[in-house]
Amino acid sequence: MTASWQEHVSLKPYNTFGIDVKARYFTQAHNDGEVREALAQARERGVAVLVIGGGSNLLLTRDVDALVLHIASRGRRVVSDEAGRVVVEAEAGEPWHPFVQWSLQQGFCGLENLSLIPGTVGAAPMQNVGAYGVEIKDVFAGLTALDRETGELRDFGLEQCAFGYRDSLFKRSPGRWLILRVRFALSHTLQAHLDYGPVRQRLVEQGAQPPTAQAISDAICSIRREKLPDPVELGNAGSFFKNPVVPADRVARIRAEHPGVVAYPQADGQMKLAAGWLIEQAGWKGFRDGDAGVHRLQSLVLVNYGQASGAQLHGLAQRIQADIQQKFGVELEMEPNLY
Ligand code: FAD
Ligand code: NAP
Repeated sequence: MTASWQEHVSLKPYNTFGIDVKARYFTQAHNDGEVREALAQARERGVAVLVIGGGSNLLLTRDVDALVLHIASRGRRVVSDEAGRVVVEAEAGEPWHPFVQWSLQQGFCGLENLSLIPGTVGAAPMQNVGAYGVEIKDVFAGLTALDRETGELRDFGLEQCAFGYRDSLFKRSPGRWLILRVRFALSHTLQAHLDYGPVRQRLVEQGAQPPTAQAISDAICSIRREKLPDPVELGNAGSFFKNPVVPADRVARIRAEHPGVVAYPQADGQMKLAAGWLIEQAGWKGFRDGDAGVHRLQSLVLVNYGQASGAQLHGLAQRIQADIQQKFGVELEMEPNLY
């Protein structure tokens, strides 16, 4: 056994669904050297590697017969600050929300709408994390990743990441790139994005006029705390399904039968359907089967009431998918990474 590896480690504390599966091997990497060492040792021993950050976008359906490599690197810094544009960089293992708060405390604007998203900086580009009208692609300045096939370091600019809706090059090539650090282009001047959901109204209620970046962050945190279960109290991985983007005539057909359908026009002429609305209409909101359930306030979120297995949650997700397909003719795609 390699000195720093542990065996048969419960992953319960390492995934926000709180699923109790075991890793055959487990280790943590605090810097690039430890990442390289773990990957080299795994290669020598013919052991597969599963990289994890905060485990907030994972559904573990079985024991992991691999080395689970937990990215635990820390560090954040200002790279440049010129003419109102600030580039900041953070190590992959930095927890996301404290990093956002740090950037706001420095007086840097740009990440406020992405407040209170769980997980790490290194995983954020995987699905181009987004919330309340902002995605990381909007503030992205670059990242450094290790090519697990060749061992080479590579810097990626915006174009090379092929960011899409909850998607990226990295998500489409699982196991290839290990993201080591990410850079963001922020600003000393606020460009507020307030048109999404109840953000503007909440700021008015809070008397934050004109709003600061910190006030927007606070408003978004308060909205999220009201609607979303805290994984510390109730296991979940946030939205379990992506909002399906479908041709406009499909929405028109659904609207003929369901006038209240919620859908948003996309730049390419298609429409983004609110998956949560479809699931709620189909009667799943608050549904519970054993310890696997659909959250009572937000039907896009599957929850673990305690002892649900990943397979039970996956089974529930498949039942929901089949029902939505049958009732609306719409395919729901799962958002978390399934193992
Ligand atoms: P993990 O779950 O640990 O990993 C996710 C994937 O990335 C895995 O495939 C893993 O192998 C890979 N990975 C992890 N780190 C690295 C790395 N350094 N290099 C290469 N691959 C890596 N998401 C949103 O987009 N918007 C939201 O508003 C949002 N809200 C959420 C709210 C709640 C309550 C929860 C529980 C989740 C929410 N999420 C949201 C989903 C999740 O928080 C994000 O996707 C987050 O970026 C995942 O980070 P993580 O470190 O937990 O990733
Ligand atoms: P919400 O405000 O109730 O809105 C429902 C859905 O409608 C959202 O999924 C959102 O799509 C879409 N939407 C709302 N206003 C829109 C607008 N002006 N233009 C285009 N689309 C609009 O959603 P919520 O569940 O409370 O979440 C709020 C935000 O946090 C959303 O951006 C959501 O994506 C994000 N969030 C993500 C996760 C995750 O795990 N991925 C978990 C919790 C919250 P989008 O999802 O495409 O934005």
